[in-house]
Amino acid sequence: MKGLAMLKIGEIGWIEKENPKCGPMDAICKPIALAPCTSDVHTVWEGAIGERENMILGHEAVGEIVEVGNLVKDFKVGDKVIVPAITPDWNSIEAQNGFPMHSGGMLAGWKFSNFKDGVFSEYFHVNDADGNLALLPEGVDPAAACMLSDMMPTGFHGAELADIQYGDSVLVIGIGPVGLMAVAGANLKGASHLYAVGSRPNCIEIAKEYGATDIINYKEGSIVEQIMSKTKGKGVDKVIIAGGTVDTFAEAVTVLKPGGIIGNINYLGEGEFVKIPRLEWGVGMGHKTIVGGLMLGGRLRMEKLVSLLETSKIDTSKLVTHTFQGFDKLEEALLLMKDKPRDLIKPVVLI
Ligand code: NAD
Ligand code: ZN
Repeated sequence: MKGLAMLKIGEIGWIEKENPKCGPMDAICKPIALAPCTSDVHTVWEGAIGERENMILGHEAVGEIVEVGNLVKDFKVGDKVIVPAITPDWNSIEAQNGFPMHSGGMLAGWKFSNFKDGVFSEYFHVNDADGNLALLPEGVDPAAACMLSDMMPTGFHGAELADIQYGDSVLVIGIGPVGLMAVAGANLKGASHLYAVGSRPNCIEIAKEYGATDIINYKEGSIVEQIMSKTKGKGVDKVIIAGGTVDTFAEAVTVLKPGGIIGNINYLGEGEFVKIPRLEWGVGMGHKTIVGGLMLGGRLRMEKLVSLLETSKIDTSKLVTHTFQGFDKLEEALLLMKDKPRDLIKPVVLI
């Protein structure tokens, strides 16, 4: 089979591999819709998780099942499924402890394009099919559903990590596709003033549609000054970080009220340390919590998220700005994600 792979750090290319084998609890799928991710860019061009040779990329897919293991109960050949980026081992100790995304070790629930071949392939393997796949409901567009693999669960996890409560004032730093989903998630959870930091016109427009009340352009002055001026020096209850760098935490801590929470979902691809400003952190006693997490993954989450699409509570198709037809267009779509033209939010390849 053919797949688009990371050949080594900084280099991608098409390769041929043997078809994946299906274990008793697993499924083999062929793709219907695929999306490249900023995380693929960190992995290949920043070498952020270290060297990987000839590893097929991609972790965002809607697919069709072509084979199931003999212990799989709820799925059959021909089913159209949403495939989460994170596919935990649900019988692991870490999953029993409430952190399935770390099943088998820190971040090890993230298997596609990390520890095993990803979904940018004619066929791909899904572990624990009953625990990880969700049926694509009739009438849900595969391109919109592809945003459920990673963008929506990651953005929404930001709102969970920050523990948004009714009426909270919330700052979302970075409004690429993940940050836009964080805006939507925070809004659903009851944020009042919802400040979104971004500069690209189409992202700003969609952030407003998803519930942002104020836009902060980080290119027009410091986030701290702008937030402090808008909140009359009080700061915000919660911050979700979905863009920026290791230096973004200092700004987030500074604008956070005592008792506030920062939920980070940004993948820190570069820099050795995250610095926390001592005074602004209440000299260590400010009750300012910082949490960072990988999205949850798994079947239940996918089923619940897709129910938000079915009931039109969220429209993820707004994120899809570029659509390609045909498996061979994957490379073009991934390179577009790397180059990030200003009008790009998310490309999807339909097969
Ligand atoms: P993106 O690059 O499209 O969006 C990031 C946004 O942050 C951009 O709009 C950019 O302009 C903005 N930004 C950059 N520097 C900034 C600064 N100093 N202050 C404020 N904003 C700034 O990326 P994305 O696809 O939305 O993904 C966001 C991050 O989430 C990436 O690092 C990605 O790898 C990561 N991610 C994490 C998970 C997870 O499970 N935690 C899953 C998927 C993606
Ligand atoms: Zn992703």
